[in-house]
Amino acid sequence: ADAVVSVQNLHVEFKTPLGKVNALNGVNFDVPRGRVLGIVGESGCGKSVTARAILQIVEKAGTISKGRILFRSQPDAVDLTSLDPQGREMRSIRGKEISMIFQEPMTSLNPVYTIGDQIEEAVRLHQTRDKDEARRRAVEVLRRVGMPNPEQVARTYPHQLSGGMRQRAMIAMALSCTPTLLIADEPTTALDVTTEAQILQLMRDLQAESGMSIMFITHSMGVVAQLCDDVVVMYLGRVVERAPVDDLFYNPKHPYTISLLRSIPRIGVGRGQPLESMKGGVPDPYSTVPGCPFHPRCPSAMKGVCDTVVPIEAPVEGGVDGHGVRCHLYPGCTPLDVAVDTVSE
Ligand code: SF4
Ligand code: MG
Repeated sequence: ADAVVSVQNLHVEFKTPLGKVNALNGVNFDVPRGRVLGIVGESGCGKSVTARAILQIVEKAGTISKGRILFRSQPDAVDLTSLDPQGREMRSIRGKEISMIFQEPMTSLNPVYTIGDQIEEAVRLHQTRDKDEARRRAVEVLRRVGMPNPEQVARTYPHQLSGGMRQRAMIAMALSCTPTLLIADEPTTALDVTTEAQILQLMRDLQAESGMSIMFITHSMGVVAQLCDDVVVMYLGRVVERAPVDDLFYNPKHPYTISLLRSIPRIGVGRGQPLESMKGGVPDPYSTVPGCPFHPRCPSAMKGVCDTVVPIEAPVEGGVDGHGVRCHLYPGCTPLDVAVDTVSE
């Protein structure tokens, strides 16, 4: 399938006063063109770091130590990790081809300018120098994100809007450059359920209209169910399962995916059991977990294997195309050629 972004064997490490931390440990996935990909996992699993790596805005202490991030298709494909993060090409990609929205709109919106001025500015930077035309487009994009009175909203300041309206304004700003890829990092987490549902529907509609790809980061399987076509499940800096959304919900394989699904009662995979009831919490990222990173919490962990050998990803037997899992319970996931006591990562 055609991918707008292909993340290949991505490693990101952070230098901290306590030593080196591997935030990403060989992450592989594609963002399919014209679809919505959900990246799901608990906080600290590397979802946001992955997004930031794609945009080349990893925090100062972090470095991409290995891997590639291919963007666009041949013959225009470019490895984003090879570009200067502050250089002209990367800045142009960030402004025109990939946009990002965050949980907190105020990280993107400037409190001292009106919504209209800010969108207009983005339009003038990348699309047209004409001021009247830029204003028209700013109002138009505010209309597209469902603002009831776009001309009036254009004249307001961010703090004058409700949380939901601010989030719409930020989406409008991200859309003003007609991106190929929109990356959204938990943009609805701070909203109430009704507003969240409206924003998710809006994103679905905008995706269908424009054909752009969306990479949507969330900790919620409920959000995944409402919005996504494909899902990547991450745990401690690794992808543990990926699949088209229906297959993930009806044929989940990885014990971590299964526990995430159990944490949402309304989906109907058994009676809801909160994630906290799994043994322990997410391990301290400073500690290195040998073997499968999930083994300290996993109800199916096998002694002598799961605590020693890092599983590899394999296609799910009898599963649909694109369904892969990384767990010793499944054929192909245990490396055959490595002696158990020499495996390390
Ligand atoms: Fe559980 Fe072992 Fe599978 Fe890891 S590899 S998820 S510990 S069964
Ligand atoms: Mg995050």
